Amino acid sequence: MSVIYLDNNATTKVDPAVVEAIMPYLTEYYGNPSSMHTFGGQLAKAVRTAREQVAALLGADESEIVFTSCGTEGDNAAIRAALLAQPEKRHIITTQVEHPAVLNVCKQLETQGYSVTYLSVNRQGQLDLDELEASLTGNTALVTIMYANNETGTVFPIEQIGMRVKDKGAIFHVDAVQAVGKIPLNMKTSTIDMLTMSGHKIHAPKGIGALYVRRGVRFRPLLLGGHQERGRRAGTENVPGIVGLGKAAELEMLHLEEATKREKRLRDRLEQTLLAKIPECEVNGDITQRLPNTTNIGFKYIEGEAILLLLNKYGICASSGSACTSGSLEPSHVLRAMGLPYTTLHGSIRFSLCRYTTEAEIDRVIEVMPEIVERLRALSPFKNDEAGWLQAQEQTLAHR
Ligand SMILES: *Cc1c(COP(=O)(O)O)cnc(C)c1O
Repeated sequence: MSVIYLDNNATTKVDPAVVEAIMPYLTEYYGNPSSMHTFGGQLAKAVRTAREQVAALLGADESEIVFTSCGTEGDNAAIRAALLAQPEKRHIITTQVEHPAVLNVCKQLETQGYSVTYLSVNRQGQLDLDELEASLTGNTALVTIMYANNETGTVFPIEQIGMRVKDKGAIFHVDAVQAVGKIPLNMKTSTIDMLTMSGHKIHAPKGIGALYVRRGVRFRPLLLGGHQERGRRAGTENVPGIVGLGKAAELEMLHLEEATKREKRLRDRLEQTLLAKIPECEVNGDITQRLPNTTNIGFKYIEGEAILLLLNKYGICASSGSACTSGSLEPSHVLRAMGLPYTTLHGSIRFSLCRYTTEAEIDRVIEVMPEIVERLRALSPFKNDEAGWLQAQEQTLAHR
């Protein structure tokens, strides 16, 4: 059975052209780009080309690109750098719906003498810019806010946020791991100071990413050692990964306009048909400001994990809004921050598409989902019994 992969916000298939670009750097060209000999020099040239390709995708200068090992490293490095550069400021602003790569750094910083404001979101997952404005003070070192949410696809008004941040003189970091390749970006006209991206979300391999650091922004490296990346990230370069990220960035630029249009059309068809065919379900997130490839749908009275297991039987890969931690069902922090009722909180499924998604794959999901939901609801003792469902959920949570 072939796999229908609709979990592209978790990771993506490596593009065959990316594999092809990488291969010589796993075999023939194994030199160290920092070496003096010509062999090393050939590697340095490959890294330079990749840096140009990534810079082009972001509308940045190549000197502003720092290669990292992943999106998580980019987020960690940006946050630490912003704080180290302004040791007198002790306040950070972020949101309740960030990726753990940001949230868990902020949580640790709270134990190290920093105060953190976690901005709330409304039922659509959107921020209140007045709350941001009210939170910004002269003591705010850093505002770190994601471009687009990985779970719901909700896109934040990043430039409007950035203008307010700049007014107060804080550094503005954006986790754009989900936005890169899906939304056109241009750092030349942006208010963003630092921006995180990750290779494996844009059809490059895992273990490579990049951090954009605007020229003039004071930067302190997370990793200390050699002089690689102009002293901003020590460690011998992951040349195959870097070459792959460069190629992937080039392909994203090439495909962005057409692919996102196509993904949006397929996503909308999937979403609208499911909403029409299945009673008691709704879309989570801001449907007007949203990534073109993502839909997160809440199916009342059933468990997302159960839906995933049945989808899996048909070879369909999706994701639930909740991260299953050691057998206990922990509802998603994103959906919880949005104030979703318990009845939908546990039954939410994310489908995330990519440029390889086909009409036939969408047809298949549309075909099987209604019967999966119906089957699970028939088994659910709480069908049409919101009170009973709530009580059972509360008991489950109490037992954890
Ligand atoms: C995947 C993801 C990350 C982490 O990137 P890795 O390369 O897996 O470390 C960070 N932020 C967002 C929004 C993501 O979707």
